[in-house]
Amino acid sequence: MTYHSRKTYSIINLPALVSNYHHIANLAPQSETIAIIKANAYGHGAIEVAKILSSHAPALGVAFIDEAIELRKAGITLPILITEGPLSYEDFSVALQQNFWLMLHTPEQVDWLGQQSPSYTGKLWLKVDTGMNRLGIMPDEVDIILAKLTNEQLQSLVLCTHFSSSEEIDNPKTLLQIKQFERINQKHGYKKSLANSAGILNWPASHGDYNRLGIALYGATPIPAKPSQVKLAPVKLTPVMTLQSTIIALRELSVGESVGYGEIWQAKRPSRIATIAIGYADGYPRNAKNGTPVWINGQLAPMAGRVSMDMITIDVTDLAQVKIGDTVELWGENLAIETVAEYMNTINYELLTRISARVPKKYIF
Ligand SMILES: *Cc1c(COP(=O)(O)O)cnc(C)c1O
Repeated sequence: MTYHSRKTYSIINLPALVSNYHHIANLAPQSETIAIIKANAYGHGAIEVAKILSSHAPALGVAFIDEAIELRKAGITLPILITEGPLSYEDFSVALQQNFWLMLHTPEQVDWLGQQSPSYTGKLWLKVDTGMNRLGIMPDEVDIILAKLTNEQLQSLVLCTHFSSSEEIDNPKTLLQIKQFERINQKHGYKKSLANSAGILNWPASHGDYNRLGIALYGATPIPAKPSQVKLAPVKLTPVMTLQSTIIALRELSVGESVGYGEIWQAKRPSRIATIAIGYADGYPRNAKNGTPVWINGQLAPMAGRVSMDMITIDVTDLAQVKIGDTVELWGENLAIETVAEYMNTINYELLTRISARVPKKYIF
């Protein structure tokens, strides 16, 4: 067992992950639910997540081939969807060898495909741009592109698209994207894939042969800043990551004394300040405002002063019985990451993925 002097951990609840997977997959029983584990499984550790999902999910998804190779090295044998597709001509031979599913999204990638000799026999996805305007073949180019594929390639083809606003239940954009996608696929009838987490939860019409489940798998809701705009399907998600640290110092301040760099917080009353062993070098954002909550001994307490590289400072004046060594939750089981994210002008996706390698993960099996 590795020794850790500092008790700052990212605790990863794998049974919760598996239970989230099945809850959400059951919302789309006609679809295969691909687990998206790019960016080190949204900060949860791609190898452990892939291992546990290997007996549940039909396939995994990552952004680029390097992430998929890591998984193969760790013995993961499931097919792996590469959502940015081949980034060079050479990527095709790697993908074929390793059973990666390439998502083609530019005419240039399709040209590389055409230059493979002998012709490529791996499973292919083709992404159509229905309004995200980031990746994907333009709708009026689809026929020309399809004509460049061999019959064998067409047979296993999955046509797909990605939503720009599926988190927003009142936004008509998603239905327009679904409609346009269906219009394109109508005459072809390929297998299809549209839904991300918010698509699965909010837009049953977007459920396809394959859905691509990311953020909700980790028990985080794909909700941006305004929860009032969003209605989630009644599915119980459990946060998979709990970010934890401990109190390493306590002090009493008099009225008018300040805390930390830049003196951005001053005591308006006699105050008790707890120093916690986590900082921006751990991925806890420096722009967390005064007042950002943490959870200590069953109560919330507000941040006081600027986030340092290795530490944060918390006003624990209103908390009874706080002592050095007490556990502090930054987000997770007791404190929703979405709440914390609002104090940092960001979203759960970014908070989860930016936790740095300095924070050891503790897996609950
Ligand atoms: C990341 C990603 C997903 C998963 O999105 P979530 O909102 O996390 O569910 C799905 N599809 C593609 C193409 C992605 O890049």
